[in-house]
Amino acid sequence: MAEMLEILGENAFRVRAYENLSRIFGNLERGAPEMLASGELEKQKGVGESSIAKVKEYTESGKIRAHEELKAKLPEGMLDLLKIPGFGPKKARAVWENLGIASLHELEEAARSGRLEELPGFAQKTEANILAGIELVKKNKGRFLWADAMHIIEPALKALAGHPATVKLEIAGSLRRRKETVKDADLVVSSENPAATADAFIEGMSPERVTARGDTKVSVLMPAGMAVDIRIVPAEDFPYALHHFTGSKEHNVAMRSRAQKLNRKMNEYGLFSIGRDGEEKRVECGSEQEIFKALGLDYIPPELREDMGEIEAAERGELPSLIEDAEVLGAVHVHTEYSDGHDTVPEMGAAAKALGFSYLVVCDHSRSAYYAGGLQVRDVKRQWREIDALNAEGGGIRFFKGIECDILPDGSLDYDEAVLAGFDCVIASVHSAFTLDEPAQTARIIAAVRNRYVDVIGHLTGRLLLQRDGYAVDVEAVLAACAEHGVAVEINGNPNRLDLDWRWVKRAKELGVRVVLASDAHMKGTIVHTFAAVGAARKGWLEKKDVLNALSADSFLRALRRNA
Ligand SMILES: [Zn+2]
Ligand SMILES: [Zn+2]
Repeated sequence: MAEMLEILGENAFRVRAYENLSRIFGNLERGAPEMLASGELEKQKGVGESSIAKVKEYTESGKIRAHEELKAKLPEGMLDLLKIPGFGPKKARAVWENLGIASLHELEEAARSGRLEELPGFAQKTEANILAGIELVKKNKGRFLWADAMHIIEPALKALAGHPATVKLEIAGSLRRRKETVKDADLVVSSENPAATADAFIEGMSPERVTARGDTKVSVLMPAGMAVDIRIVPAEDFPYALHHFTGSKEHNVAMRSRAQKLNRKMNEYGLFSIGRDGEEKRVECGSEQEIFKALGLDYIPPELREDMGEIEAAERGELPSLIEDAEVLGAVHVHTEYSDGHDTVPEMGAAAKALGFSYLVVCDHSRSAYYAGGLQVRDVKRQWREIDALNAEGGGIRFFKGIECDILPDGSLDYDEAVLAGFDCVIASVHSAFTLDEPAQTARIIAAVRNRYVDVIGHLTGRLLLQRDGYAVDVEAVLAACAEHGVAVEINGNPNRLDLDWRWVKRAKELGVRVVLASDAHMKGTIVHTFAAVGAARKGWLEKKDVLNALSADSFLRALRRNA
């Protein structure tokens, strides 16, 4: 909403107010409507009466009038422009006012023909960046963050989980495999009354429209633009359907060819043995476990079903025993009000404790991150004193003195050695100079890895899912350096990041690099993002022993590079 106001040239004060609000809402632990119902929303800092009124309006009618009115004032494709990396409301307003551009397509044409250069603030380089950005937007069109998709299907799960007709209910597809982004959502349900199940699904979802309704499949399109499909199957077909619709395609192809080698056939309706006379007989399986077993395989968890060696490992009995949420003991990388976080150190501690964590590694921004209120040395010392005092009090959670220290463009760190030596844990991250070329960016990060005070490399590639690709960096080389120097890499659990990517996580493990599962929470409610990092860790084949913050507080400290 703030962005729309800015394009329309509304006064800066109103714009700022909406920006703050959307940040608060974006960081809530659960949906705003749910928190409104429980009375928690009013207690959030910075949420005033008019915001509460808007949430109420949204819960009741599914819309916010002020929002609809604003939207009506803007041409339809206008908001797509804001998805281009680095293309903010100011630029959108400039191209709209001066060149009448109001869609991605029009902007692309203008950039190609060099017309943008005529505008102040649009250099030739900007044009090239805009074209690259438009490509990215096109590539990401119709994709959703894992966390957003989970949120969208929540009403369906609620409506069906307690429904009398429901026998079994599971999420399937890429959502179940915990892909970082998904195109749509799939549910598989076995039901005693398919028609009632279909009705309950549609009613629960209140979709934009129902795109297909049959006896076994219902498809809806949600207002956010995501399709949700539900397959309704007889109870005895459930395991086969669940396996089939969980995918991935590649995994299913490999499974079918394995079945074939064993003179069997596999599809969404079953696993069949083929007799000498060619007659097919279903091998009855009551669960996915039994399907895998019938093919001579250990059970393959959904996260691993990408045909990346999981079938071979299952055959040899060498699948990893994947890390579980409850095995993560420390909440790592949280920001507080010392830098750009929303809550105090003790508030973050209490929230981490409530989630079952036994220690909290506070990691505010370092001084060069001025835009994020990075800490001057005197602030660092003030925070250390507070942490010492809290630990002396002993409130049931242990605090560690950490920092998210900027890696400066030349590869040096943001404090001198005397300060760095005083931290319990240093996470080093890149927050600037994203445009260095690959050799320079790689050398910069490896220089940080070599620094004896660096324990962890934060969000290694800097990607923002569906918004911008990571910077150019030789990940393999950085991981090799981490292995050599005993530096861990972070999986940043912010749903927009999930960086390091799970594909690289598997490689990190092969190289012997240990991993930290971090929330990068900027408020109490998002410490739960630790568990999004667990999802990516599982997808990257990680076990408890690969994860540093699955260690107890003392062992965690001892395992950090600085203490090795
Ligand atoms: Zn960061
Ligand atoms: Zn951070």
